[in-house]
Amino acid sequence: MPKAAYQPAKASPVVRNRSAFTIRLWSVRHSKFLEKIYLALAAVFLKLHPLWNFIGYSRAEKPVMLVEKAVKTLLFDCRMCGQCALSDTGMSCPMNCPKSLRNGPCGGVRPNGNCEVEPDMPCVWVEAWRGAQEMKSSDNILKVQPPVDHSLKGTSSWLRVTSDEAARKQTENEGVK
Ligand code: SF4
Repeated sequence: MPKAAYQPAKASPVVRNRSAFTIRLWSVRHSKFLEKIYLALAAVFLKLHPLWNFIGYSRAEKPVMLVEKAVKTLLFDCRMCGQCALSDTGMSCPMNCPKSLRNGPCGGVRPNGNCEVEPDMPCVWVEAWRGAQEMKSSDNILKVQPPVDHSLKGTSSWLRVTSDEAARKQTENEGVK
């Protein structure tokens, strides 16, 4: 293709600028604080397990999912994948990676730490590493994340984590008896 005379400066193939990531970047910078909130919330949800059981997890799903979606969309640009990895990824949502990498970064990070696909966007995995360094569970960033199960999209991670943890505790208690 012949080279055109006019080459726009600093053009991005995706029209987004840094201000679109302000809250997401704030969340990564405050990962330690958000980790504490998350752990407290997870403990409350686990205490409420008998209530979720009474109501029925499937009946509780919609209202809880709507609250989860509102909070996490605001703070993390959450895509509601249904298998939240934030506590392992420095409070940087991996689903914001244009390649949807659950284990990153890819080899295309720019020298300034931005994404090769969206040059104006800080690489979510570079941010994940930064955020993880501040967290108590900083080694979790080294975990290999399983592939995304797309059938869980749009469901509540909060309830899933709660019910998995309750089942794990029950098995543990039964083993002790
Ligand atoms: S990992 Fe999934 S659930 Fe967690 S913030 Fe990202 S899209 Fe939302």
